[in-house]
Amino acid sequence: MTEPILPRIRPEIAALPPYRQGKQAGPEAFKLSSNENPFEPLPSVLEALQHTAPINRYPDASAGALRARLAEKYDVDVDAVHVASGSVSILYQLILGVASVGDEVVYAWRSFEAYPGIPLVAGATGIQIPLTDGARHDLDAMADAVTDQTRAIIVCTPNNPTGPIVTSAEFAAFVARVPKDVLIILDEAYAEFVTAPDAVDGLGERVFEQYQNVVVLRTFSKAFGLAGLRVGYAIGHPRVLDAARATGIPLSVTSAAQTAAIASLDAEDELRERVTVIVERRTRLVGGLRAQGWDVPDSQSNFIWLPTGEQTDAAAAAFDAADLIVRPFAGDGIRISVGEEQSIEKVMAVASALRAG
Ligand code: PMP
Repeated sequence: MTEPILPRIRPEIAALPPYRQGKQAGPEAFKLSSNENPFEPLPSVLEALQHTAPINRYPDASAGALRARLAEKYDVDVDAVHVASGSVSILYQLILGVASVGDEVVYAWRSFEAYPGIPLVAGATGIQIPLTDGARHDLDAMADAVTDQTRAIIVCTPNNPTGPIVTSAEFAAFVARVPKDVLIILDEAYAEFVTAPDAVDGLGERVFEQYQNVVVLRTFSKAFGLAGLRVGYAIGHPRVLDAARATGIPLSVTSAAQTAAIASLDAEDELRERVTVIVERRTRLVGGLRAQGWDVPDSQSNFIWLPTGEQTDAAAAAFDAADLIVRPFAGDGIRISVGEEQSIEKVMAVASALRAG
């Protein structure tokens, strides 16, 4: 058989592994691998979806109603709001808008698994700065890594997959050290789960107004429970967000996503009550695991980090055998979402057996 001649693919793209998703769970298992919201969708959101625009029509390309709603909520101009099909889309759009061949994008590592592929798609180079021993961003080292080629820096707080936050004071000191023409993306996908009073809150503190090179990213996937519909947003300087609007694929935020996001904002109080429940479970889980002797970093998110090191594969197999689908990172640790009430004791039982074994 002769090999067919296929179109040439950019070598760095051919070498790029596809995004690794958490395993799908069977009916008996708890899916704790993707930091999703374990609660059923709200009836009011499902009801709103019954009345969304007909699916033979294209969605509103500008997501006007949703952006207007967010602009009102955060008291900003509509053009200071950008909506896309998940905040991961906005990461791609912004990086494509600011970085290309020869440019550098700085981010902490380990952090969100999608980061490494994004500069690569833009033709740029990713610069990874190791986390501190406490699994936190090393913002001094990240600022030190800035060169004339740096076009963007991604700061993830709380950090996925380890959990700790960046404080307001740390962020202010960091921004002061970064040239004003370098984009800083403050990825706050898990902001709603933060309880630490000293944590940076990009929207609450209006950091995007203080510093025009800061764009704040949020999502409806986690606290708002719409992961399956794909909708996220950014708040920042309108001209910076124009770059994301220019690189974004047109019409990719569906009518259903726009409708559900607005209905979720209408139900925010109810959704915040669920967040309180998750935070209470997180506190119990972190406390329980620490009592077992695990060195679990402070989590301000809806997941926790179990540092299993070289034992990660065996530990993941033990969770799997107990019908707990978790996210292992080989040689490093396991990220476990804070999920259903019944999953908390089960996670602790497996973790305890791992310590004993
Ligand atoms: N940022 C971080 C830190 C994340 O963990 C995730 C999702 N895992 C995202 C962004 C993307 O979320 P979404 O595209 O669903 O909005």
